Amino acid sequence: MFLIGWNGILPRTSISGHPLSHTALTWVSALLTNCAQKHLCSGAVPSHSPKRLLAIRIAEDGQIKVKLVEPEKLSAPYIALSHCWGTERSCMTTRETLADNKQDIPWNSIPKTHQDAIKFSLKLNIKYIWIDSICIVQDDEADWEIESSKMADVYQHSYLTLAATSSSGDSKGCYPDIEGPSYESEIDVPEGATGISKVFIRRPLKHWNNLPATMVAQEFPLLSRGWVFQEKLISPRILHFCSTELVWECHELSVCECGGFGANDISREQYLTIRTCENTNVSRMDTPYISPYGRN
Ligand SMILES: [Zn+2]
Ligand SMILES: [Zn+2]
Repeated sequence: MFLIGWNGILPRTSISGHPLSHTALTWVSALLTNCAQKHLCSGAVPSHSPKRLLAIRIAEDGQIKVKLVEPEKLSAPYIALSHCWGTERSCMTTRETLADNKQDIPWNSIPKTHQDAIKFSLKLNIKYIWIDSICIVQDDEADWEIESSKMADVYQHSYLTLAATSSSGDSKGCYPDIEGPSYESEIDVPEGATGISKVFIRRPLKHWNNLPATMVAQEFPLLSRGWVFQEKLISPRILHFCSTELVWECHELSVCECGGFGANDISREQYLTIRTCENTNVSRMDTPYISPYGRN
């Protein structure tokens, strides 16, 4: 039984542990540069500007400032957010709040998912973000009809779509505030007569391309939402915030931090074999992935 589990071992890279870490931001920046320069996905400057965007900046006192703007022409890239609203209905733009939101949107009134997307955008040095609930006047029927009909354009011309893929609602956030415990353990492996090598092991991460549909809905709630298919198809680039790692998808490349998402991933049958081993209480050591690269 032990040997059956070891058949599932594949080499994988270490994961960053948190989207705001230097490692994660370097990884995303490299993918953005590579995509913008070498792919046919799209350029950085939009040829179409949404009617409204959130202008975001860090003030001199270090506080993040957010306000609604209506740019006539935009010469800077913007990010679009793909998210599950959940049951909460906070921080929406209405006819009553439109004027106030153009002055300033208090940081504390902004749901965590939006806050996380804004913080991540600023780390990428992007100064504009489009969020449907704030950029469309929710109780103005005419505005909603016009702007919601243009949502395809919004996603198509975004520099990057940030997807809160593992979040079931706006209060849940895109990622935890602080890095959680490491998913990897360190072990010593004898090498030769006297040598010792260090390897890092972890359980396989979950990816939606090799999970049963019920588990996809549980692990990646956003992917169950109808609109997301349009947003995924139309966006030139998507960065998914998943519970354990980041996943990048553009028209020419799909890749995740651990390297398990894509053509070389384990098959659903292999995954199910491994799960079966776990369910029979075989040693935890029977299902690790070994990273030969160590921690990043
Ligand atoms: Zn690309
Ligand atoms: Zn992965």
